[in-house]
Amino acid sequence: MNASLYSVNATAILRHFNGLTVWQRRHERAPHKPLLALWAIGRCLRGCARLVDYKTVHTELGALLKKFGPSRQNYKPQEPFWRMQKDGIWQVPSAEQVRVQSNGSVAPTELRKLGIVGGLTTPIHELFRRDSAKALEVAHLLLDAHFPETLHRAILEETIGDCLFDTNRVADSKVELDKSELLKSTYVRRRRNPKFRRKILETYAFRCAVCEFSLEFPNGTWPALEAAHIMWHSCLGPDDTNNGISLCVVHHELFDWGAFTILPDSLRVVVSRALLRRKSRDSIRQFHGSPLSVSAKHTDDRPADAFLNWHARNVFKDNRLPEMKAG
Ligand SMILES: [Zn+2]
Repeated sequence: MNASLYSVNATAILRHFNGLTVWQRRHERAPHKPLLALWAIGRCLRGCARLVDYKTVHTELGALLKKFGPSRQNYKPQEPFWRMQKDGIWQVPSAEQVRVQSNGSVAPTELRKLGIVGGLTTPIHELFRRDSAKALEVAHLLLDAHFPETLHRAILEETIGDCLFDTNRVADSKVELDKSELLKSTYVRRRRNPKFRRKILETYAFRCAVCEFSLEFPNGTWPALEAAHIMWHSCLGPDDTNNGISLCVVHHELFDWGAFTILPDSLRVVVSRALLRRKSRDSIRQFHGSPLSVSAKHTDDRPADAFLNWHARNVFKDNRLPEMKAG
């Protein structure tokens, strides 16, 4: 194989993923395309056929969107399946059979009825099959661009993970070797902005704003305490104190997963009703309805309404926002 040609192709392909446009409306998160791309990369690494029928995408991408996307009535997996064709990475070979609506959408029932299939383009599929490191590089690029680090491991496990961790199903043994590099780089990136972390932890007197967890090691470090972005960094949330909150690792993960949100003004914790309905003991129910245990000393440093509203709308796993405003 011509090495320089291969290199040019790989660069061009990375550029396609880098420029993956995301459907956005009023700053809502749209994890549709990145999740479909990650899911397709996983299939590729597992040695699956390039093309897959829409029915399978509907079920599997729908489940991923429900887990990692904003809480919505309808998750619309047909949108990325159809629209990602324009991004230069996805192909629907029988696209001309499908009736396109005036808004550019297609009906999922029609995709199913016609047995429409789609998949990564042939050059991309072939590149990823022969170069699993490149596939994982792209997976990281997508994760970094669209999700906070607290969700990366879970998304990797659900999309491309079973080929990373199950050696019997690895299409290329090189994938297993890449696992340590992959996890190491995730670990390193968690600490990429020490100034923001320090500023936020100081603002909250080195305590978790929810449970007050605080532990200083004799060497002056504060383990298990993190600076969470309210509006995600990956969604262009700024590194400002009014977009940050000091949380222990448990409450940081729960906040990014949408288990709870924080109301503007009162700064009360509101837990998702799906969790409140469960009777089991956990680490968040007890804080439902209570104001943050620790608040920033200066008013300007307190969480801004705009960022809290974004979190409630785009991350919180609950649809009923009007009820929350009563808090
Ligand atoms: Zn905590």
